[in-house]
Amino acid sequence: MAIDAGSIPAARGAYALLVGLCAPWNPGIRSLSDRALAPGLYIYCGSAYGPGGLRARVARHLRVRKPVRWHVDRLTGHGQVEGVAVRIGGHECDLVDAFMARGASVALAGFGSSDCRRCPAHLLAAPGRFDTFSLAAVVNLGRTASAPL
Ligand SMILES: [Zn+2]
Repeated sequence: MAIDAGSIPAARGAYALLVGLCAPWNPGIRSLSDRALAPGLYIYCGSAYGPGGLRARVARHLRVRKPVRWHVDRLTGHGQVEGVAVRIGGHECDLVDAFMARGASVALAGFGSSDCRRCPAHLLAAPGRFDTFSLAAVVNLGRTASAPL
């Protein structure tokens, strides 16, 4: 199912991407360990507080070809974005906490969190039997549940 970034609000806030890798992949970031990620599902947590908000940021993530600005650009240029969930007004580090409390684990220490002093990484390996509904459920904790995008 293709994700339509037009259905994402232009508001500011935090988001989580569910990204699938079908083969081992080494992001090739010199400052990180030289470890390849195993095939599987990964969760990337980010915030969008710039122009265009969440909609513009998610649209960028969905484009395969783009200039590599952030670590995550390498991931979304390589893997398949399978789901997106947003928390308007939210903070990416709170999403990291929520996913880790529910069984997600650090995928690659330092990935996406160069500017963060709180999280070991903003890229997590998804727990077993995780899907786009799980993603939306965690992001919407304490809020009215919404269907995954
Ligand atoms: Zn963080």
